Amino acid sequence: MMSPLEFFRTLPPKMCPECGEHMHEQAESYMMECDRCLSKKDE
Ligand SMILES: [Zn+2]
Repeated sequence: MMSPLEFFRTLPPKMCPECGEHMHEQAESYMMECDRCLSKKDE
C-alpha cells in the first residue's frame, strides 16, 4: 500500500496547458496557467 506522502511524490510536475512550462507547486492550485500566460490574458 502506498502512503499519502509517497503518492504525492510520484505525481508528475505541474505543467501549464498553454505553453507547456513546468511550474512550481503553489498554494493557489486553482490557477492552471503559469504567470506568463495569466498576465497575457489580462491584456
Ligand atoms: Zn504558460
